[in-house]
Amino acid sequence: MGTRGREIIGLDVDELVDLLNKALADEWLAYYQYWIGAKVAEGPMRGEVVSELELHATEELGHALLLVERIIQLGGTPILNPKDWHNQTNCGYEVPEDAYVEALLEQNIKGEQCAISVYQKLSELTALKDPISYNMVVGIMADEVEHEEDLQALQEDINLMKKRHA
Ligand code: FE
Ligand code: FE
Ligand code: MG
Repeated sequence: MGTRGREIIGLDVDELVDLLNKALADEWLAYYQYWIGAKVAEGPMRGEVVSELELHATEELGHALLLVERIIQLGGTPILNPKDWHNQTNCGYEVPEDAYVEALLEQNIKGEQCAISVYQKLSELTALKDPISYNMVVGIMADEVEHEEDLQALQEDINLMKKRHA
């Protein structure tokens, strides 16, 4: 990256790149979990759940793009081999073996809660040290907070429907 751009970062840049790469692994796994979940989903409110899963998939891919661009700007190398997603991830991957919408929502909520924690830690680390990365991680965190809320709202609607029909 530009020499002055690197100098203003009050952190170990290599360490920061490693953490951004771990977040990148999370985003790709989250992308696929949403994307494949949207394909296999079945059960009540399937249409609405699928639309939300598809939208979130697209947004996770957007996060991956932001992370890659920043990693490259920092002079780092983004993860080049998908097999490294599994040994780099913070949040892992929940295999959607049960395609029932409630099971998928549960798995994806867990993923979002993990993502919120990851970006919360990254925002604390970069605050006042690297304003560019800080802005990026706070922006991503805001999306993850929204994702959690979207999924929990769907979960509540399904529960409400079940109560009414009980
Ligand atoms: Fe994300
Ligand atoms: Fe998300
Ligand atoms: Mg949404």
